[in-house]
Amino acid sequence: MAITIEKARPRQEEPGDPNSKPPPIERAHLPPEEPSDPKFKQPGPEVLRPPNLGRSVHVVGPVININMDKSPHPMNARGELGKALFNYQHNTISHDPLTRVTAPNHFNDKRNFIATVVNQTSKGKVNPERVKVSDPKAMTEHLKAVAYHMGADFVTIAQAHPTMMYAGNRYVQDGTAGDQYEADGPADLVRKFPYLIVVTTAWDYDKLQAHRHQIGDSAYHVSQIKGNMILKALEGYIRELGYTALRGVANPQAAGLAGGMGELGRNGLVINEKFGARIHMPDPIMTDLPLIAGKPVDNGVTDFCNGCRKCAVTCPTNSITFGDRMVFNGVEKFKINWLTCYKLRPYTHEFWSSCLTCATICPFTKPNSWWHTAAIQTLRNTPIPARPVVVKALKAIDDRFWGVVKNKRVRFMGYDTGIKPGEEACTVAGCTADHGAAKAKVEGEVGYYFPLKENTNRFVKRG
Ligand code: SF4
Ligand code: SF4
Repeated sequence: MAITIEKARPRQEEPGDPNSKPPPIERAHLPPEEPSDPKFKQPGPEVLRPPNLGRSVHVVGPVININMDKSPHPMNARGELGKALFNYQHNTISHDPLTRVTAPNHFNDKRNFIATVVNQTSKGKVNPERVKVSDPKAMTEHLKAVAYHMGADFVTIAQAHPTMMYAGNRYVQDGTAGDQYEADGPADLVRKFPYLIVVTTAWDYDKLQAHRHQIGDSAYHVSQIKGNMILKALEGYIRELGYTALRGVANPQAAGLAGGMGELGRNGLVINEKFGARIHMPDPIMTDLPLIAGKPVDNGVTDFCNGCRKCAVTCPTNSITFGDRMVFNGVEKFKINWLTCYKLRPYTHEFWSSCLTCATICPFTKPNSWWHTAAIQTLRNTPIPARPVVVKALKAIDDRFWGVVKNKRVRFMGYDTGIKPGEEACTVAGCTADHGAAKAKVEGEVGYYFPLKENTNRFVKRG
């Protein structure tokens, strides 16, 4: 049975309205790209050695710290990205009740959206009775165990580096007040708080197959809510141990790469050995709790992306490059066009709010299984010069068994991706009743993922 839905309706806010709060953090796929105010304090000469981010990303020149105020959501909150995007993010109540309580900023009443409540709670005090840490390795294992107990799917620790730090007001996205270290520059913060804890939650694999659909939205946003809760609890745990826990201070992707969460793919997402691209990269926790930092990993993502363009081929907005890595703000990496990716949303929000196509199609995004682990191990254990041959074979297998385009029909609760957006349909197997012209009969296992690539090719040229 298809869910009957009301029309999305507007909420009255205008660009520049002081009561119009920026949406809660949703940074995984919209990395801030604008360098900050140049007068902001830059790393001193003693810290200019670049961080080791692994094979997929290299710091090759001066990095200007990113001002979060110039990141996509705050820019949109000020109306700088156009009316359509502003109205989508700030004036649109979703017709779908599940979206209203899971996706940022599409609620009828923001107190019904738990991430608002969790993110905007006041920051707790640090316990003056500090627990002494004589064995940082044991504390690292302990802290990871606590995070896993709280529901995390993958946890890594990175050595903080000034190039990973944000500039400006770091709490701009959750709307809460700053802290006593707000005036410190990146180098000072790194000296005081040397570790970044990256905690992820993974999106459910089966639901994610329904990308560009409310089922996929649900997989994505529910894991985002879980991540918010876990990180808030872990922050509290660190403070109760007597140490500082700062949020909103560092780029989660850089910290994730440095600590071994994964490698950066052509799709602009950190790709993890266990979950592929289906992980959230929320704000890491910066702390002075004595820990041992991890190291970057090499699971062959760099080699795979050199020979694979599945995400670029299927991206409905042509936001992913077919070309090589490029240098942006001193960092060599695959860079997606976040603006064209973001700009699609106002035109699709009746049917979905998070695209996720590039995460779903990626050959690394698979269920946890022995064959997935075996494929990663094979690639990892192959000497780098020989990897292109292995990549070619693995990609051919992926194309053959998992498809070049993802269009599997997914059913979840009353939702069904077999029904074309905007249409009503009968999905009862073997039903012969005449439902009239308004209700189509849906059979087969192919889902309809709006907009189809051929529809958008006309508007967004391939870069
Ligand atoms: S496939 Fe393209 S439009 Fe969709 S989320 Fe990825 S980059 Fe954005
Ligand atoms: S789909 Fe292919 S090119 Fe894109 S991120 Fe995944 S492995 Fe890399």
